Amino acid sequence: RTAIITPSFPAAMAVLKAVRGRLLHAVSNPFHVRNDGGIPKECVEELEDGVLIVDQDTGKTVAFGEASEVLAREEYKDVSVDEYCSTQYLIIPGLIDCHVHFPQVDVIGAYGEQLLQWLQKYTFPAEAKYGDKPFVHARAQIFLQELLRHGTTTALTFCSRHKESVDGLMEEAEKLGMRLIAGRVMMDREEFAPDILRDGSAEESYEESKELLNRWHGKGRLAYAITPRFAITSTEKQLELAGKLAEEYPTAYVHTHLSENKTEIELVGKLFPDCPSYTDVYEKYNLLRRRSIVAHCIHLSEHEYSILEKRGSSIAFCPTSNTFLGSGLFSVKKCAEKMQNGNKEDGVYLGLATDVGGGTHFSLIHTMLEAYKVAQLGDGTPLSPIHAFYLATKGAAESLDIADCVGSFGVGMEGDFAVVDLHSNSLKKHRTSIADADIAQQIFLMMTLSGTGDIAATYVGGKRVFFNHQFDESLFSPPSPPPSRE
Ligand SMILES: [Zn+2]
Repeated sequence: RTAIITPSFPAAMAVLKAVRGRLLHAVSNPFHVRNDGGIPKECVEELEDGVLIVDQDTGKTVAFGEASEVLAREEYKDVSVDEYCSTQYLIIPGLIDCHVHFPQVDVIGAYGEQLLQWLQKYTFPAEAKYGDKPFVHARAQIFLQELLRHGTTTALTFCSRHKESVDGLMEEAEKLGMRLIAGRVMMDREEFAPDILRDGSAEESYEESKELLNRWHGKGRLAYAITPRFAITSTEKQLELAGKLAEEYPTAYVHTHLSENKTEIELVGKLFPDCPSYTDVYEKYNLLRRRSIVAHCIHLSEHEYSILEKRGSSIAFCPTSNTFLGSGLFSVKKCAEKMQNGNKEDGVYLGLATDVGGGTHFSLIHTMLEAYKVAQLGDGTPLSPIHAFYLATKGAAESLDIADCVGSFGVGMEGDFAVVDLHSNSLKKHRTSIADADIAQQIFLMMTLSGTGDIAATYVGGKRVFFNHQFDESLFSPPSPPPSRE
């Protein structure tokens, strides 16, 4: 008889990894403190020599604090440490993009149109290609790399109307262990959804969305968003079924556009004559709730704000897109008055977003600068660096209802970090080194002199996926054959 040898495994030892350097994160909402351009520094915490220790199996932070204190503990004595111990670096929570379009990596920087013509001329033809699975995988790798290259570790994204566009993107994000919320676009209205992209029927879009939701929502770090493109491209039947789906899945997201462009708003008025406003269209079909994220909201009336406040929905502020497409200037100041806070039962949430490809940059740090400019022009009040930083980190996490997982540092939080290089070019190096070491000043220069190349390293679940301008190649292997799992 052949002896059966049962291998014995030692008790699992947690593999730990430490990230050490100057740490910065938001600890509270600066919009609750002041909105007059002043800088509420008490809303961020800075540790000059801090450390984050992440369990590589769970991807979660197990210790966080002053490096001298944490690393002296017996249990962390032998932990391997990635050191960024220089004023050149700033370690921040992974950035969070509250509204972006995966297929629009192919149309970013398209010339000369405003929203409705821009969709017809550039976006719809590009999105029509996303029914092809190998093509989707190749594009998904580009998209996710652009996010990570810019320190973005979580995004809420549109896909196209094809199931393949969601499956391909989710499969790639899953390989990376990345937190991502995505959804298949619903668009079935004959006059405005072109033949190449139109849903066969409202029922088909409902069934396919439901299938994808069941497949991806809550799988690891992935979540699903019910995604009607906007009121104009959907029939009443489709919006009704989207609302039904939302009701059936209370934890799913609803993701759409609202009040972006004046011609768009007029058209919505004509298509939905029984609704007193654009926002009322989504309200009527039960699409507004805590986990509803509506992009833009530039031209909202008081009445429309009151609906969003009552529902506790989130607004995605997309400054680069709003100026690029000539849509208008979002009022941060007005939104701040409508925000949820501890003393108020109702209120909206606000997060920052790139809206690529209407938006012109994947970098949320650059988007912070553009948000500042929009506030200067529209409100006449500067958006402080503390407010801008909050909108791209903790505020964005609150908008997406995931602030207990990402957006700030803490024990039990997921280990998503971005290491900002404040010396990534000669001008930045010069300017930041002669500047005040004050953290608000440093964040403001980080915004103002931002661009591609700002990020020295990106961590997803405690693993360094991007470093030295390069990706960990094993994470982006060709999609077939499927990688083996242990
Ligand atoms: Zn958009």
